[in-house]
Formats: sequence, C-alpha cells, structure tokens
Amino acid sequence: MVETLKRAPAYKPFQAPERKLFGPGPSPVDSRVLQAMTTPVLGHLDPLFLACMDDIKDLLRYTFETDNRMTLPISGTGSAGMESCVVNLVEPGDEAIICINGFFGERLHEMTERSGAKPIPVRSEWGSPIDKNRVEDALKSHNAKVLAVVQAETSTGVLQDLTGLGEMAHRYGALLILDAVTALGTHPVSVDANQIDACYSCSQKGIGAPPGLAPVTFSERAVDHIRRRRTRVQSWYLDVTTIEKYWGSDRAYHHTAPISMNYALREGLRLLAEEGLEPRWARHELNHKAFVAGAEAMGLRMAVAPGSRLWSLNAVSVPEGVDDARVRAGLLEDSNIEIGSGLGPFKGRVWRIGLMGFGSTRENVLLILEALRSAMEAEGKVCPSGIEAAERVYATAPNH
Ligand code: PLP
Repeated sequence: MVETLKRAPAYKPFQAPERKLFGPGPSPVDSRVLQAMTTPVLGHLDPLFLACMDDIKDLLRYTFETDNRMTLPISGTGSAGMESCVVNLVEPGDEAIICINGFFGERLHEMTERSGAKPIPVRSEWGSPIDKNRVEDALKSHNAKVLAVVQAETSTGVLQDLTGLGEMAHRYGALLILDAVTALGTHPVSVDANQIDACYSCSQKGIGAPPGLAPVTFSERAVDHIRRRRTRVQSWYLDVTTIEKYWGSDRAYHHTAPISMNYALREGLRLLAEEGLEPRWARHELNHKAFVAGAEAMGLRMAVAPGSRLWSLNAVSVPEGVDDARVRAGLLEDSNIEIGSGLGPFKGRVWRIGLMGFGSTRENVLLILEALRSAMEAEGKVCPSGIEAAERVYATAPNH
C-alpha cells in the first residue's frame, strides 16, 4: 500500500519590517548593498566573479590599511575570522597570551584552548581596557607564540589603545592577533602602522553589509610562521594557505564562495572607499559625542570612562529602578527600534546602543535620544530632552 504523503505546509513569503538597528550588529544595510545582492549569481570560477574577488581584496587592503598580500574574506561570520586567525597561528602546546576584558576575549581564550594551545589570560575588569604593563609582564614570563587583543570589546563598549602592542609582541617573539570586528570602518585599525600580524573583522558592522563574511589579513611574518608550522592546521575549512589558493593566482577550487554575499561586501566596501576612512572615523566620533552629550543631559550615565569609549557602540548604564528588558521590548514594539542588552556581568545593567556604519548619523542620534526619553518616561522616570545638548555638539563640529 502506498503511504499518503503529508501535505507540504504552505507559507507566505517572509516579510521583515524595516527595523531601526541600534544594536551591537548587524548595523543598517544601505540600499545599494541590498541591490548588489540581487545581481545574478555567477559561477565561483567565472572570470567576472574572479575580477569581483580582486576588487574585494584591494578594497579590504585599503580598509585594513595594509599592503598584506594575504587579505581576503573568510566565508562565515566574525567568529570564523577569529577562529581562522587562532587555528592558523597556534599549534598544540604553544603558549598564547589572551587579553580578556569582556565576552569576546573569553571567546578567543576558548578557541585557543580548543585548538590545543595553552592560553595565558591577561584580564581586566569588564568595562576597563587592558593594562599594557601586565601584557608585557606576561610576555616576559612566558614563551608565547601569540598575543591576542580585542580592539573594540562589543560586550562592554571599551576601546583598547593599540599603541606599541605590535612592537612589544615582536620584541618577545610573539605575533599580534587583533579582533577588529566592531572597530573596522568605525575606528582607525591601521594594520601595518600598528604592526598587527593577523586581523579579523566582519561584514555586518562598520562595513554595513549583512552578516556572512569575515575579512581577514595576515602579515608576511604571519604567513611565514604558518608555512613553517610543525603540524597541519586542524581545521580544513579555515586553513588560509589553501583558501589562498582560490583567492590568489592559482584560482583552485576550495569551497564554493558565497557569491551574493561577496557582491554585498564589495558594494559596502565601495561605499566606504567613496566616503574615505578619515571622514568615516570622524563621522563615527562626532555622532558618538553627540549621543553621549544628549544621554548625559538626560541624566543617563555611560558605563565606560571617557577616553576608552567606542565610537561605534555606546554602553549606557540602566538607571536604578528601570526594567532593562521592558524598555528594550517597548522600543521594539512601539518604535521599531532594536537596542542591545548587556552580556555576562553586564546583563541587565547596560544597554548597548550601536551607531555604526550607515547607522551612524545625526538623524539616528536624535531619534534614539528621543526614543530613550519616552522609554524612561514610560518607566516613570521623567527626564529632560537630550536633543539640545546633542545639537550643540553638531553646531561646534567643523564642516557640519
Ligand atoms: N568579536 C567581537 C568583538 C564581536 O563583537 C563579535 C560579534 O559581535 C564577534 C567577535 C563575533 O562575530 P560574529 O557574531 O559575526 O560571529
């Protein structure tokens, strides 16, 4: 007897509303980037797609500020970029100094441990940068192959000053890995000037494309180190020397490149290059400053001390007596606005408000300040508007 087939369920096409993305990422995607994704799909060895890949490599070199030959997007999100840097540079038994002052430093630590290496943590409190003297002490007392640092700790809103870290790592025979997931395209990363050996980022924050690709770059020193490994890279998928055979002149198949995501990345990078890195950083800095002035005028407190604050991700302390989750749910339901919650020890204690990529605009700063004021009012906390204070920052900005 033939079994009756179950009827296939019928679904309507998925419709997403145009959310205002003020979270830790993804950031808003420009219509030019969305449009690029609708371009017909080419074969992954089509000469036209190969030319698109070459453009992406050039645009990434501009964005990372590097001449590194091995610069390409890993297929996967920022965590795939992180894992590619870790597994290619460390071998089982190697010591690796991992700076931890938040959730993503912890992730780096776990990846290093899983790769069979021996992570040596250098910790700072959540909300504070890493003390470089403690990094140097750790380098002095170990024989570390790698030093890993998060430039923009998205879990806390802390910016790590990179000055001298590359030179310090090299002085002790280590390579510097940098997490620039929330920094690239929003803050100077300056891979060559900072002597960074391996740097990874993502497509969905400062670059303003959807999530799905992780730009990485490796210095000649790092490539040389990889070529001299005693053991094979344990991840087949993330072995950059074989991925490079596809992205480099061999054009040998490794895995099928996510074609449409690469179109999106190319367009996001093209928009970034049209704006220019310095004006882009200045835009992020200005909008961050205007947001802080407005938030403080409303009586809100920033969770990070001035001087260590990210321009792309603002950590705001949840005021006493205010329900963090209710405010976030209200913003989403009433105003179509997404903001981020705190992670780990910051859970329930901070809101993470992203102003990154195409989302870093004066219009958005004013919008989120007003939405926060209404949300506070709904929680019974009447506070003054932050708009005037934010506008004063814009009024004093050159060329505004
Ligand atoms: N590192 C940092 C600093 C991040 O902010 C994130 C994600 O937000 C990651 C790594 C991981 O990136 P993804 O979520 O794209 O895998």
